[in-house]
Formats: sequence, C-alpha cells, structure tokens
Amino acid sequence: MYLVIIIVFLLLSFTISSISDYLNAKNLKENLPEEFVGYYDEEKYKKSQNYLKDRTKFSFLSSLTSLIISIVFILVGGFNYVDLFARSFGFGEIVTGLIFVAVLYLLLEITGIPFSAYNTFVIEEKYGFNKTTVKTFVSDIIKNLILMAVIGLPIFAVIVMFFAKYGSLAWIYASVTVILFELLITFIAPVFIMPLFNKYVPLEDGELKTELEKYAKEQDFKMKGLYKMDGSKRSTKTNAFFAGFGKFRRIVLFDTLIAKHTTQELVSVLAHEMGHYKKGHIHKFMIMSFINTIIIFFLLSLFIGNEGLFAAFKMQHISVYGALIFFGFLYTPISMFLSILQNVISRKYEYEADRYSVTTYKNPKAMVEALKKLSVDNLSNLTPHKMKVFMEYSHPPVLDRIKAIRNINIED
Ligand SMILES: [Zn+2]
Repeated sequence: MYLVIIIVFLLLSFTISSISDYLNAKNLKENLPEEFVGYYDEEKYKKSQNYLKDRTKFSFLSSLTSLIISIVFILVGGFNYVDLFARSFGFGEIVTGLIFVAVLYLLLEITGIPFSAYNTFVIEEKYGFNKTTVKTFVSDIIKNLILMAVIGLPIFAVIVMFFAKYGSLAWIYASVTVILFELLITFIAPVFIMPLFNKYVPLEDGELKTELEKYAKEQDFKMKGLYKMDGSKRSTKTNAFFAGFGKFRRIVLFDTLIAKHTTQELVSVLAHEMGHYKKGHIHKFMIMSFINTIIIFFLLSLFIGNEGLFAAFKMQHISVYGALIFFGFLYTPISMFLSILQNVISRKYEYEADRYSVTTYKNPKAMVEALKKLSVDNLSNLTPHKMKVFMEYSHPPVLDRIKAIRNINIED
C-alpha cells in the first residue's frame, strides 16, 4: 500500500507542476505591457518569451526524467542494493547509515550533473547570461560535495543516533539539535560558507556608499556589513540579498546590479532589503522553518520501523537511516503545501518591503525604475499565470509590485 501511495505522490506532484508550467507558458502575451514600453524593444521582448519557453521545456524534461528514474529505482529495489552494499562493510548502524546516505546522495548528484550543465552551458549561454567557466562549474560541484560531507553527514549521524537510542523522545532531541544547527549555520554562513563560492568585498568608498550609509543612518539601522559580491563570476543576472544575523549579518549587492543601476535605484533596493529586516520577516521565516523541522521529526517518529514502508522500497532490513530517507517520500505533499504557504507569506512580505522602501526613502520612481531594470536584465516573465505565481513565486509579478508602489501614499 505504501508503494502505491508513494508513486501516487510522485506522479501527483509531477502532474501539478507540469500543469502550472504549461498554463504559464500559454499565458505569454503577444503585446508588450504598457509599463515596459521603452524598456523592451520588440526583439528583446520576444527573447524574454523564448527564454521562458526554453526553460519550461527543459524543466519538463528534467522532472520527467527524474520521475522515471525515481520510480524505476524504487521498483527494482535500488535502495535495497545500496543498503546491502553499505552493510557489506560490517559497521554499526550509524556508519552503515552514513555510507547508505552518501551513496544515494552521490547517485542523485551524478544524475543531476548533465541537467545542470545543460541549463548553464546551453540555455543560460544562449540568452547571454552565462559567465560560468567549466572550472567554476566543476569546483562548485566539488565544494558542495565537501560541504555535504562536512556538514550534512555529521548531522545525519546525530539524528540516526537519537532515533536509534531514544525511541519516543528522539523527535524532540533531533528537532532541538537541528534547530540549533540551523541557527549556527545561518549565523556563520556569511563568513565561512558563502565566501567558498564567491568573493565578498566591502563596498568601496564613493557616492554609492555615502548615500547608502546616509539612508541607513536616517532609518536608525546599524549597517554592519555592506558588501559587493562577484555575481558576474557565474552570470550577468542581477540581485541583492540579506544574509546572516547578529554580528555577521550583511547586505550584499551583486557587482552586476551595481553596474546597471543608478545610486538612487540602489538605495531603493537596499531600503527594500532593510525593510525585510525591520519588519521582522527574516526572523519570522526562521521561526517558520523551526516549526517545520519539529513537524518533520514528529511525523517521522511515527514511521520509524514501519515495516510496510520498508516493504514498499523492497528493503530486506529495517533501519533508522532507511526510515529517514523513505519518510522524505511520504512527506512530499506536506512539503508542497508548506512551500506554497511560504510563498504566499513571502509575496506579502515583498509588498511590505517595497512599501517600507517607498515610505522611508520617498522615491517611488527610483524603486519602480529599479524593478523594471531588474526584470529586463533578468528577462523575467512579465505575465506569469496565476497558478504558477500561487504555487512557486516567492515574489509577486513585477507589474503587480509596480501597481502597488504607485498606490502608496509616500507620506504614510
Ligand atoms: Zn524582497
């Protein structure tokens, strides 16, 4: 029965996301929206639409492949073969579990490489975004594997240990440990993890820095770190974000963003990012993720040692580490629901951050201009379908944001 449930879940999530992608691609409008006249010429607008079509086709093919591989792997007892291999070394539960999960992770990574290479070197390249060299591509994969080994494996070992030893209370211990760990990672990531992938340099002195600091001071925001990141190492796409908290928190602007925007636009963008912080969005998302962790471990604890679940995966032996992996399949619908919920909340927060930027910096024109340029430079879809937005968009469609900004009374 579990086998049927799991395959239905896999098929369902594939079908739902394919329908949303299909509707999204069908929703492309022939005519350029009024707002963007003068920002897109006909040719470039066409290009942005082709970019969406290419990505939609590619994402359909890659999720179809991964669906087929997953189902075949389950049906032929792939998990059991990996388990027998892990057990052949004769270690205890924890080390055997580490081998089991490491082999599965490697298999997943390896099957993903051709797709990620095609995406970077064919699709992104075709639209002029790609700056990733083969060397960067390969070293990213290796760095991710090392991080997984250094961070992922120990935490997996601790969780297996809790569930193997503490039975009914294990979910509490595991939740607390993972939450503390998540906090630690968020705290140190800007200093110890992110620099492995990109260069972060403090923003140099000049008009931009002066203006940003002046604005931050007016808003009584202690600017602890204002960094420029070499986003151009991988792509010409532009972005800005907030990372870390406490002592290591920082605002990061991509070098590509700085190159393409005026000082006023960049201050609006920074004001938006600060808005996320001032409105407590970052902390609220962290708390939601902790609640999610607790729910996962509680539900997981109900399935530990469930023979039916192991039978579905053709397993000869029952193990704690196996349950951790198999439960992930049962969790698919819940995680889909939670990710939709998270996107709904995130879109609301984006409006709030825009409002914060506009009412504090009082330059809606610069904010609108920044959003338009961001859209054009990243060839964003101007007319996404409602279902796609509802399910997958963490940010509202740009035209909705512009409309909302125009409706803000800046004296608020
Ligand atoms: Zn935002």
